[in-house]
Amino acid sequence: MPNSRDFIRDYPDDNLECRYPAHSWAMPFVARETYDGRRVVVVQFSCRCGANRVDVLDRNGERISSHINYPPGYVVKGRGRIDRARFRAERVRRLEAGK
Ligand SMILES: [Zn+2]
Repeated sequence: MPNSRDFIRDYPDDNLECRYPAHSWAMPFVARETYDGRRVVVVQFSCRCGANRVDVLDRNGERISSHINYPPGYVVKGRGRIDRARFRAERVRRLEAGK
């Protein structure tokens, strides 16, 4: 299993841009559904990194739930948590390298 330094060095550019500064959500897909017996709006956003965000809203726009499904390789697994600063530093390194 690669160490965290290798993980960050090999981290895809799209994923890195989503780590710093942020995800870039595309125009969402909206659907009206029944959830726990109530009418809700399900709003799904996708991102360049392959992440998919699903918000469930009530009719007033209050958020009932919100979660993000990440693509394989986005989330660090089995290496412990990697500090966000290290992703920012790697983004800066690539920017300065002209990548
Ligand atoms: Zn993203």
